[in-house]
Amino acid sequence: MNLQTTHRLRGVAVGAAVGDALGMPLEFDLASPPGKLIREMHAGRLPAGNFTDDTEMALALAESLLALRMLDPQDVSTRFLDWYKRRPPDVGIHTTNVLDCIEQGETWENAAVVVQKRYPDSAGNGSVMRSWPVALMCWHDEEMLYTWSRLQSRVTHTHEECIAGCAFINSMIAQMINGTAPFDAYQRALAQVDMPEGLRQTIRLAPRRKRDELRNTGWVRHTVESALWGLLNTDTFEDALVQVINLGADADTAGAVVGALAGAAYGLEAIPEAWKIMLRGEWPLQSGSILRLTDFITLADHLAGSLNADARRVFNSRNQAA
Ligand SMILES: [Mg+2]
Repeated sequence: MNLQTTHRLRGVAVGAAVGDALGMPLEFDLASPPGKLIREMHAGRLPAGNFTDDTEMALALAESLLALRMLDPQDVSTRFLDWYKRRPPDVGIHTTNVLDCIEQGETWENAAVVVQKRYPDSAGNGSVMRSWPVALMCWHDEEMLYTWSRLQSRVTHTHEECIAGCAFINSMIAQMINGTAPFDAYQRALAQVDMPEGLRQTIRLAPRRKRDELRNTGWVRHTVESALWGLLNTDTFEDALVQVINLGADADTAGAVVGALAGAAYGLEAIPEAWKIMLRGEWPLQSGSILRLTDFITLADHLAGSLNADARRVFNSRNQAA
């Protein structure tokens, strides 16, 4: 693996966590005035530099991938539930409903479907915010990348736009890790990924949106739109993140998504030192152990090298059985 690829792989994990932490104090705010954009880590409901549920769920997913060397939705749901029982300060409404259902004894297959039936229009950003570990594991295997990106969404988010959003974002991440330029990766993902027409239209228009048209809510369409707008209208990691987190509203989640994308595009070295030094968060929750920059680098290295011939064999046999 060449050095630039390693930097890009590491940039995804660190970029996502940094974007989450940078957006954390701006969550639920109005957009910052254009002349007064926040560019530093600030304290909010958590200390400055602290990541939130977006990164915590990604860590749970990453640990499952590393433990089993494959995406096993049952194991992922068990790990999400373990995280949820440790009382995280912030959990999305849809994710709460699904994990409550699993906690009451429902299977992972049924829980998300039951909740989706109760709220058919619910299409939140809770699965797209945490999907990057699949891109790090499958950056060189497109078939596994698409299958597992979609499957990890199904554990909590079964809406077709949520599922397609994960495949789309991870397609872009994987292509950029492999050296494709951001706009080319965007166009190719748009051509390759099956998705409902509404999401496709949002993605098509995202790069040309004006700042004051962006709502940046918890709707998956809004998060994907903001992240693409930020990535494709700037040319540094720092500017992409600054633009997106200052939209306010679901700032941490849009920050995590644009952070993963921009990390893949520009690599670890392009992430401002001041942000990397501040990055922190307790993991597992209530363990007293604090994760920092080097832990995310190690995690990225492990994920990137974890897909072996065994995983391929299991994947092939399951796909044949399905
Ligand atoms: Mg959050």
